[in-house]
Amino acid sequence: MKTIQSMSYKPESIKGGYTDRILRLDVSSYAVSIQELPPEFKEKYIGGRGYALKLIWDETTKDTRYDSPENVLVMAGGPLCCEPRFPGAGKFIIGTISPLTDTFIDSNIGGHFSSLLKLCGFDALAISGISEKEVVLIVDGDKGTLEIAEAPPYGETVDGGALSYGEALMREFNGGASDENVALVTTGIGALHARFGIVNSLFYDKRRERVRSKQAGRGGTGTVMRREGVRAVIVRSSSERIGANHPIDDAGVKQAGSSLKKVVSQMDRQQLRLSNWGTPVLIEYMDKYHLLPVNNYQYGSHSDARAIFADVFLNRYFEKKLPDGCYFGCNLACAKSGENVTLQHGSRAGARVGVDGPEYETAGAVTCMGIFDPQFIMEFNWYCDEYGLDTISMGVSASFLMECAQRGYLTKEDTGYELKWGDVEAAHRLIEETAFGRGIGRVCGDGVHRAKKWVAERHAARTGEPIETILDELEKFAMETKGLEFSMYISKESLAQQGGYGFALKGPQHDEAWLIFIDQVHKEIPTFEAKAQALKWFPMIRTWFNAVGLCKLPWIDVRHPEAAKTDNPAQNQPTLAYYIQYLNATVGSKKSLQDVLKDSERLHLLQKLINLRNGKGTRKSDRIPLRAMGPAFINEYESRAEYYSDWLKERLNGAELPADAKERHDLLIKLRQEAFEKLCDTVYKEKGFTPDAIPLPETIAKFGLLDEKVKSLLAAYGVMEK
Ligand code: SF4
Repeated sequence: MKTIQSMSYKPESIKGGYTDRILRLDVSSYAVSIQELPPEFKEKYIGGRGYALKLIWDETTKDTRYDSPENVLVMAGGPLCCEPRFPGAGKFIIGTISPLTDTFIDSNIGGHFSSLLKLCGFDALAISGISEKEVVLIVDGDKGTLEIAEAPPYGETVDGGALSYGEALMREFNGGASDENVALVTTGIGALHARFGIVNSLFYDKRRERVRSKQAGRGGTGTVMRREGVRAVIVRSSSERIGANHPIDDAGVKQAGSSLKKVVSQMDRQQLRLSNWGTPVLIEYMDKYHLLPVNNYQYGSHSDARAIFADVFLNRYFEKKLPDGCYFGCNLACAKSGENVTLQHGSRAGARVGVDGPEYETAGAVTCMGIFDPQFIMEFNWYCDEYGLDTISMGVSASFLMECAQRGYLTKEDTGYELKWGDVEAAHRLIEETAFGRGIGRVCGDGVHRAKKWVAERHAARTGEPIETILDELEKFAMETKGLEFSMYISKESLAQQGGYGFALKGPQHDEAWLIFIDQVHKEIPTFEAKAQALKWFPMIRTWFNAVGLCKLPWIDVRHPEAAKTDNPAQNQPTLAYYIQYLNATVGSKKSLQDVLKDSERLHLLQKLINLRNGKGTRKSDRIPLRAMGPAFINEYESRAEYYSDWLKERLNGAELPADAKERHDLLIKLRQEAFEKLCDTVYKEKGFTPDAIPLPETIAKFGLLDEKVKSLLAAYGVMEK
């Protein structure tokens, strides 16, 4: 690799989970610098998402877009990442201004990158600027060097691919050898053309003897990275990871980690069995409870779904004997992968590849297109990773276009070919066109929010109908909020999940409030009040996980045996106690769960302020499409007519049901919309917001954020005097 710039540095060792340094790269000038952080920075912003929020709040404005030079791409673990003695410590977040939402987005990702970055002496990496040529940043903690090099042009075979390119880069960097002490992040060709480009996190898996990958999928972080001209970042450190955080109380860390591992190993096998099946185990549950998105979320189950239940992947693709943690020490080990999968479609047909996945979400993105073919799911997974596309946004955008075609809003002239549910060939073609920015793929790659405007304009030009009327219809089934495509849960029958999607600050991604399971499957939050409280509590604790560098699954997907005896079993507080113990032992604090929730609320509010500044923070931005709260069209209603009749009867207190299905459908929609509005009022009040979803000054003041900049923002919304 041809060096553009290099410098030596002294890797700072970690103390109590932190190095108190951020590595800064301005690719416009190829300037690398080290930002020393004052002690209060970590007190207030914790790490991970908190660090990204603070940098974005300070260094961008309301006019900053994803491709503005001042936009910052932040990669940060947190004080608790790196330690293999505690499960799930390989997570980090990538945060930036999103090409889809025009406001803050972050996506969490597994692998070894953030741990090695921390071992190299940095709590975070922040990249801004736009480079004229594609570059690679190399952070070598063993040599103590920081280097910017020209991205190698490996040629056509690997040019399009994040995985192929990343592997080739890793080999070149290592002189052909494979090494667990090297990790990298990279993007693919799709990130150049689509707004939902992902970042792949690559690491060498000694047991599988191959490079594996995990993805920061949501919101277009890879698009930002590729637009900056950064093709990859490589990190290397061969420092010992166990104890590398230099915790204040090493015995406490050890104890917390072994307590959590014990619960995971005892309980997972009696509950979801994620360590056996991976997240595809959810497909069967989702199908059973009408939660699996089928044909653009019209239906929640399908008679062909059996073909893609978890046992199919386990028997046909997964290597059963190998554990599948996405980082050392995770005994939940849910990150399943298929070996030697022969691709049957697309530009790489015939190649044998390792597929890291599928996760449930990827399978859901495929059923969303009406496809129930396990081989296609594997290939969709691999191609999206290779091209650098978010499987969720790809599946939802494609299925939106399919439905537009089938409802007559798009013609074959618009699309170039027929877009039908269940058509594997058409779906493959659409992925390729999206990745390479060709044909209808250009519209698909812009995401649902922008695609619906394009479709409305085309249809208006053809029919003469007013654009606004067409948009009103399209918005019923355009599955996006704030510009982000919905993740893979049908929320029609779960008011709590409707709120979880609508209030999620980044847009409808379930990582802020995944309430579908506890609401609709376990029925643990049956009352309106319980749902509203859950919509305050869960986003706070989930924010904390994204700030400290930990995976949430060992907490949320494995229930502690003692949880059933607590007031709120869904919160799984006995397990959370191990997390708090781990935190206090690492950083030397004496925090309670309440303290942790308060720390998270500060970050949650900061994210809300960025949304307000960027025009995505009011009640209007929390609106969800009609299909997210009930059957949008009569065909959906009729597919479960009996269920909906019963639902209406329960709410009509003995009053007669309307005779006609259309009237019943209208009544149902009216009741659902009223319930959602009531939920908004209650949750905003609970959070200390106005009815228009704007935080009250006193709410913000409690968290030490009410400075002049915030006051003037609130004044612009009429919540404070100017
Ligand atoms: S639970 Fe799964 S996603 Fe989380 S750290 Fe473990 S292997 Fe990775």
